[in-house]
Amino acid sequence: QSAPVLLELRGLRVFYGAIEALKGVDLTVRRGEVVALLGANGAGKSTTLRTASGMIAPREGQVLLHGERVDGIKPHDLVRFGIGHVPEGRGVFPRMTVLENLRMGAYRFASVDKADLDRVFTLFPRLGERKSQLGGTLSGGEQQMLAIGRALMGKPELLLLDEPSMGLAPLIVQQIFDIVKEINEQGTTVLLVEQNAAQALQLANRGYVLETGSVAMEGEASELLSDPRVRAAYLGEG
Ligand code: ATP
Repeated sequence: QSAPVLLELRGLRVFYGAIEALKGVDLTVRRGEVVALLGANGAGKSTTLRTASGMIAPREGQVLLHGERVDGIKPHDLVRFGIGHVPEGRGVFPRMTVLENLRMGAYRFASVDKADLDRVFTLFPRLGERKSQLGGTLSGGEQQMLAIGRALMGKPELLLLDEPSMGLAPLIVQQIFDIVKEINEQGTTVLLVEQNAAQALQLANRGYVLETGSVAMEGEASELLSDPRVRAAYLGEG
């Protein structure tokens, strides 16, 4: 528990018009952790990530990175603080090649670091085989790999992953989870939103369960995995 806090969300309240999507969310991510954010559809998981990455401003509450307030800072400036956000739906540029997509991920730097490209192609050999293929023609799994690879090109200290397993076959999902583990072992902290609670909690150190905009449970991943309420609600048991 001694690793320093990297990301802290304090009392976040976020609205879409009159709808209160987050009703006072507190969440902490320490350096080196994988933290899973679980919850049913509409619980506010994506909203939490969007607020952490500056895409949405909270009406109340604070976002702190390394103890410094960053709420109100625009996403393209937040990249400089070391946040990489892989949004739901991936956001691959369909008419750009794989290589061009990856270069876009390094836009905050004057030039593309060859070592970063090599790292991405080592993590995802499939992308290396498809450098000049258009993003829009990649399979769903390959697009997810590209979206993660593009975020890594920005050298993030903290990677926000929004449902990387969405719509993918089980074998590909396992590959993506294995690679997320490897990325974490290489030193990147991860906040992972997942519907796939069992796999997310196997990978994570800790987890949070959101219910209608509030944190309903939090704890060590192993505790959550064996919690009867979690098992009944999110692991298809009971
Ligand atoms: P899912 O797994 O279905 O993506 P989620 O837990 O990520 O769900 P959010 O996408 O954060 O949930 O949505 C939280 C609430 O905010 C939901 O009630 C949703 O309908 C609402 N919401 C999300 N985005 C918008 C938007 N752009 N405009 C209006 N309401 C929104």
